[in-house]
Amino acid sequence: MARACVKNRSVNNSCYVSTTEKGGPSEDKPPPAAAAGRRYRAGGASDWGDWHWQLRSRIRSIAGLKKRFPALRVPDGATNAAARFPLAVTPYYASLIHNLDSSDPIFSMCVPDGREVHDPPFLESDPLGEDGDMPVPGLVHRYSDRALFLATTMCAAYCRHCTRKRVAGLTEERVTGPRIAQATEYLSVHPEIKDVIISGGDPFTMPTAALERVIRAIRGVPSVDVIRIGTRTPVVLPMRITDELVAMLKQYHPIYVNLHFNHPNEVTPDAAAACEHLADAGIPLGNQTVLLRGVNDHAPLLADLFRRLVRVRVRPYYLFQCDLVRGVEHFRTPLSKGIEIMEYLRGRLSGLAIPTFVVDAPHGGGKIPILPNYVVSTSPTHTVLRNFAGEMVSYPEPRGEFDPMQPGTRVDDGVWGLACGMRNSMRKESI
Ligand code: SF4
Repeated sequence: MARACVKNRSVNNSCYVSTTEKGGPSEDKPPPAAAAGRRYRAGGASDWGDWHWQLRSRIRSIAGLKKRFPALRVPDGATNAAARFPLAVTPYYASLIHNLDSSDPIFSMCVPDGREVHDPPFLESDPLGEDGDMPVPGLVHRYSDRALFLATTMCAAYCRHCTRKRVAGLTEERVTGPRIAQATEYLSVHPEIKDVIISGGDPFTMPTAALERVIRAIRGVPSVDVIRIGTRTPVVLPMRITDELVAMLKQYHPIYVNLHFNHPNEVTPDAAAACEHLADAGIPLGNQTVLLRGVNDHAPLLADLFRRLVRVRVRPYYLFQCDLVRGVEHFRTPLSKGIEIMEYLRGRLSGLAIPTFVVDAPHGGGKIPILPNYVVSTSPTHTVLRNFAGEMVSYPEPRGEFDPMQPGTRVDDGVWGLACGMRNSMRKESI
């Protein structure tokens, strides 16, 4: 089971990519086709590469899962969870499942789990308070220079850890012309909004022409500089990144795209090709990973994910603490886990590959970056810092009135010596 497996895993152990011939992926190769998924894919249709077929053929029920994976033992309470929060998995994403149980990260992220219906009282359906910050329907305006436009409630696959479980997939609808007009009117009279994020749901599940209507309307507001699109389609439906879609997006630069990869097993050759297709169109790609217990709460695994992403031209942007949303308690990790992971990454990965670890504060409090504490002590003349290896170093501040080098200044050991500038560094062994 996932929890036991996570405790013992390493980058190359069987939990990571499960039962492959070589026992795990090398960092140079994308993970091979999954065992259970490979069998499923072998029986797949000739339309496999057609994103419309993938959407039409999504698994939408526990019975559908059982039909596709006859060996599946339905997890306890899964039917109740699916009744409360919708189930959808594309054939492509289902083909990435290695093991038909929660030891498999892809399985955990897309198959309902009975624990989703048991919430502690502090979880909320809208923990970020988005509904309260909508001046017009579908447009969230919280930060003065940014707005979020929810263009659809549909996703290709419904993530069990989704922050918008209150809306994603309960119905599958997209914005109408009057709603788009309301949003752009608001943007027009709020020229302080420079950056509009189109999200949902997943905007890339919309027909290209419908998505273009949204983008064109927003691009028509002169004060909007940047349009960002949040999508998980390169992860769960990479065939959606078609020439037609990319050609449309290119007309409305600057367009940025934020992706949502959570695990190295998601960085397949198909997903890599989708990312590179977007990058070739001059679209900067960022990634937002959610820290999920039993899925990716392991520093070497995340280091591997971030390396893989950089390789396919995706910049790790945020590592999110799982939000306080109903139905996700079993995925939540202590904050200290994220801090521990950030400690591990620093010094092992290039800064380019290290995301910012953030907590999206409850009740609309906004994103709060959380860092390991690298400042040990300060004095008027020196700041004592701790580096990634645990050594302490003394950083001299601009020379002010206080001069510790004056006659009579006491020379000392330890942190005080660093803080006075009497020592330059302390090795870990002597701390
Ligand atoms: S793709 Fe995004 S909005 Fe859709 S279910 Fe997953 S996390 Fe939620």
